[in-house]
Amino acid sequence: MSVLGLGRMGTALAGALLGAGHDVSVWNRSPLKAGPLLDRGARLAATPEEAATADVVVSCLSTYDSQQPVLAAASPKVLVNLTSGTPEQARGVAKWAASEGIEYVDGVIMAVPQGIGTPEARILYSGSEPVFEAQRGVLEVLGEPVFLGEDAGLAALYDLALLGMMWSSMGGYLHALALVGTEGITPERFTPMALGWHAAVGGFLTGIGTQVASGDYETDVSALDINAAGLALLVETSRAQGIGTAVPAALKELFDRAVASGHGSHAIASVIEEIR
Ligand code: NAP
Repeated sequence: MSVLGLGRMGTALAGALLGAGHDVSVWNRSPLKAGPLLDRGARLAATPEEAATADVVVSCLSTYDSQQPVLAAASPKVLVNLTSGTPEQARGVAKWAASEGIEYVDGVIMAVPQGIGTPEARILYSGSEPVFEAQRGVLEVLGEPVFLGEDAGLAALYDLALLGMMWSSMGGYLHALALVGTEGITPERFTPMALGWHAAVGGFLTGIGTQVASGDYETDVSALDINAAGLALLVETSRAQGIGTAVPAALKELFDRAVASGHGSHAIASVIEEIR
């Protein structure tokens, strides 16, 4: 095995592989970062090409742009690409790999470095299923591997969709902290309430997904116009309390457009029509 890229994530990946008893060589643009891994038994490759003599190469650099020349120099036999990017970038590398005779699977890491090698880590893969299955054993060392399909861009698509949910949630939470903070309420006091509420909101997702799948937005629970009015109250109160409105204002604008398009009496799920 070899790992290209020893940032926070690449170091964690190489560490997990070493911990599982694999023979690991590593390459990084700044070789000094390899020190702790070398102490644990890793071998330092002087070039990406040298690292690519391993059976399987895991690549985890900051971006596809930084990765491209490294991969071109390495030209490995089997490549597991764990650098984050767009679906088009993943498909581009898959195409390049096929033209070079490189066996390729793309992956995205749904975990922080500290979670790698623990049951908390899940890594989503797409691309060649035979390559994925052949490497499943070693991929299980890094985190729970989930194969999504043969389109190499799928993992990146899921990644961005899921991260979008995460960023929206974090944005909502930070706005909430800023709002209650205007009255001296600390994160410590508010967060238990937020956690319970966040779990309750998670419980709505299946129903929303069912409505989106069917296109039937009838509701006897909560209509969009009531929620749009609630967002207006949140924007007004945020302004009155002297904090920014960027987070709720973006949603208010979207909900208002959906109401204007005739979805006022429909469920929140109908907002997807406006997004589309
Ligand atoms: P990082 O700590 O910033 O490390 C970036 C790595 O990319 C380093 O090895 C760096 O080398 C290398 N690099 C950057 N530009 C380069 C260039 N032009 N040529 C050669 N090497 C270059 O980032 P990270 O947190 O490890 O993230 C790596 C990938 O994992 C990203 O795509 C990220 O989205 C993904 N990811 C990270 C997390 C996370 O929580 N950290 C979670 C999921 C996915 P030097 O050491 O020489 O600078």
